[in-house]
Amino acid sequence: SAHRVETFGTTIFTEINALAQEHQALNLGQGKPDFDTPPAILAVFAQALQAGNLNQYAPGPGTVSLRQAVADHAARFYQLSIDPARGVIVTSGATEGIFAAILGLVDPGDEVIVIEPFYDSYVPNILMANATPVFVPLHPPTWTFDPAELRAAFSSRTRLLILNTPHNPTGRVFSPQELSLIADLCQEHDVIVLADEVYEHLTFGQTRYTPIATLPGMFERTITVSSAGKVFSATGWKIGWVYGPPDLVDAAGRAHQFITFAVHHPTQEAVAYALNQPDSFYQEFKAMYERKLDLLSAALEGTGLQYQRPEGTYFIMADFSALSNQTPMEFTRHLISKIGVACIPPETFYSAQHAHIGAKYVRFSFCKHDETLLQVKERLSQLQ
Ligand code: PMP
Ligand code: GLN
Repeated sequence: SAHRVETFGTTIFTEINALAQEHQALNLGQGKPDFDTPPAILAVFAQALQAGNLNQYAPGPGTVSLRQAVADHAARFYQLSIDPARGVIVTSGATEGIFAAILGLVDPGDEVIVIEPFYDSYVPNILMANATPVFVPLHPPTWTFDPAELRAAFSSRTRLLILNTPHNPTGRVFSPQELSLIADLCQEHDVIVLADEVYEHLTFGQTRYTPIATLPGMFERTITVSSAGKVFSATGWKIGWVYGPPDLVDAAGRAHQFITFAVHHPTQEAVAYALNQPDSFYQEFKAMYERKLDLLSAALEGTGLQYQRPEGTYFIMADFSALSNQTPMEFTRHLISKIGVACIPPETFYSAQHAHIGAKYVRFSFCKHDETLLQVKERLSQLQ
């Protein structure tokens, strides 16, 4: 293999899915719903397949309908004014959007600030762009960054900062104060923000999600990525998008045209329909996940697994140190093989430099049937 990919192993999601299957464990590992996409959205998809004119290449930047829907959604929820023609491109999931943005905006030798723990594709993407990741850790149990550590991460070579909020895997939703500090430093050092907001509609209780692009002076220097995977329970569709000011989106679009050129056509019609759902759809989606969060919380209660209630996402990071002094991978294997519940050890979300910070945690995801979560409670009670 090329040097570029020599250090890349099999992703942890593939490894844990295989183990979970082998032991018939309830799989709270990968963030993948075990229930289907809402029927009304599937019906629009089925119509699109049969329409007779949507099974050939879509326009490279995405269908007119989906780009318009992305712009309308940003206006409805965040009062952002996006140009659907020049300020949006459709990508193969947020994953391609992130890669296209990095390839389009970062030069070899540039530095990219990554908050840890991080979604696992960021660092391989940065390395494939011949750039250098610079890590800023979140500190448990509150998963906050140290402002001095953040400030120290900026240098004259910093080009981009990747900000994921609501944050996988910790469940943090960064506060307006935290976002302001990030925004100030990015303006001071002329740095672009890549905002990964795939969990934008998944916040709990009083928590409100503020896109960093809405802060003063930030729209011009923010490129935002999101996708249909989480909010429409359609992770298998791999429809995502990138939006922002035309110059930044154009840079990502130049890379996109030579990665995938265009993405799956009929699903774009269904996602455009889905984004235009009334506010009640989004409220019901939140309420469904608030209930699932309560079910997983009840399952963890009294087991000795400690966690801070997430403000957003569908993940809980749980500290298992009261139960075991194993490594996260050892504890995960124990949980899968002896208790019948799968989780994700967080090594994949850390650089070697900061892996010790996550060394007592495992991640559980609750995008699962209520019945699955009730069974998880029964199984985890064996931990006591
Ligand atoms: N970013 C984060 C933080 C995620 O959790 C995920 C989903 N696993 C993605 C990006 C990728 O999204 P998609 O499936 O749309 O490529
Ligand atoms: N975003 C999901 C997670 O973190 C899925 C990741 C993946 O399968 N690559 O679990």
